Amino acid sequence: MNRQVQSNNTSQGSGFERLDAQLRSALERGHRAAIVVLNFPDIDHARAEIGHESTDALLEEIEAEVTARGRTSDLVQALGPGKFLLHLAPIRHPAQVRLALERLADTLGKIFEAHGAAQAARLAAGAVMAPQHGYEAKKLLQHAEASAIRARDRGELLLLHVPDTGDVVSSHQAMAPRLARAIKWGELELHYQPTLCLRSGRIVGAEALMRWEDPELGSIPPDTFIAAAEATGQIFDLTQFALQNACNQLSKWNASLPQLKVAVNVTPSILTDDYFIDVLDNALSSGSAEPGQLGIEITENAIMEDRDAAHEVLLKLRNRGIGVSIDDFGTGYSSLAYLKQIPAEELKIDRSFVTGMLSDGGDHKIVEHSIRIGSSFGMSVVAEGVEDEQTLDRLRWLGCDYAQGYGICKPLDSADFEAFCLEKQTGD
Ligand code: C2E
Ligand code: CA
Ligand code: CA
Repeated sequence: MNRQVQSNNTSQGSGFERLDAQLRSALERGHRAAIVVLNFPDIDHARAEIGHESTDALLEEIEAEVTARGRTSDLVQALGPGKFLLHLAPIRHPAQVRLALERLADTLGKIFEAHGAAQAARLAAGAVMAPQHGYEAKKLLQHAEASAIRARDRGELLLLHVPDTGDVVSSHQAMAPRLARAIKWGELELHYQPTLCLRSGRIVGAEALMRWEDPELGSIPPDTFIAAAEATGQIFDLTQFALQNACNQLSKWNASLPQLKVAVNVTPSILTDDYFIDVLDNALSSGSAEPGQLGIEITENAIMEDRDAAHEVLLKLRNRGIGVSIDDFGTGYSSLAYLKQIPAEELKIDRSFVTGMLSDGGDHKIVEHSIRIGSSFGMSVVAEGVEDEQTLDRLRWLGCDYAQGYGICKPLDSADFEAFCLEKQTGD
């Protein structure tokens, strides 16, 4: 077992040097990395239950599994019996570490079970992110180990090292613990803004918009906390929350509002994240929502930022039957030549052109042309920000397919949204 490093002396020896080298190489390439220490705190129960020999066999199998799971760019080392060090790079968000660990815990749990030691399967891990929490392998490893011990003591699967609050923190950083708490304690909620079909006069779907009610600060606008979440790396957790909740809600509504569609907003950094599709698949697999009921809204610029990567993800969404809308259309800088190649089903005309289109000739022209462009590329067209009946009539006349806006309905919580739709149906 030449990969083994002394468990009580992890900051020395060849294992540590390898970690140091791997970390340097990741940081030099501009990658982010996670250092994770994980162990099985209840392994002694297994020894008592199934004996030393069987426990050793079990641990060997565990080690083979953990090692086999590393990507080629990852480093996995055994620190001692049932204790491992993982260096994961590149990695963008702590939530990716959690996702990977949840999966690992699942698989390893089955191995414990097969050995008749299910009661000892608890996994406790501590993680630290580089360069956010430091650059030095030695210090980072110490932090990860300390977090793993805290995770063990608190009965958590994973605890992430949070730097001491003596550090200089930006306002975004200062929001991070509040936001983390909000995600954990359910202070976030999705509201739903109806989409009206201009031909049938029916509500066919909704856009999910996130709301945050902080117990002290009151309600915080999504533009503010989404930007903060982008800066602190929590945007992955937020998107996971939105996708999971939208799918749960769709499952619940499948009885009362069948065939409803819900679209979730996704920011550029998330779209091309390695784990985005996994999170999406997880959300869809947990209920009765069909992929065709879920939509993703992405701004024009998000797609343009990293065309090839975005294109690849959009094709994956299309293959799954998930709808893609180009959000805030008209504010970006995509060329028509490129627009026609984007695998998207829908264009959403930005509300800055729609709201005042009856009084501003220029805006009216932009809306008119956007409808034509969308239709000629085979996309359906949604006008956002419709605030009055006259604008709605004009959009209908111009051949726009769908509309959204305060003039139809403001975003509502799930109960009010359901009531609104049911009332509209019976009023037909
Ligand atoms: P967006 O995607 O363009 O969402 C539409 C915004 O316009 C919403 O603001 C909505 O309440 C507002 N709106 C709808 N109809 C009207 C209208 O008739 N008049 C006016 N003046 N405004 C209208 P909200 O909810 O404050 O969201 C702002 C932005 O925050 C969204 O812009 C979106 O970019 C972002 N956002 C919201 N929820 C999420 C989320 O779950 N994930 C991500 N990544 N971004 C989100
Ligand atoms: Ca949107
Ligand atoms: Ca929009």
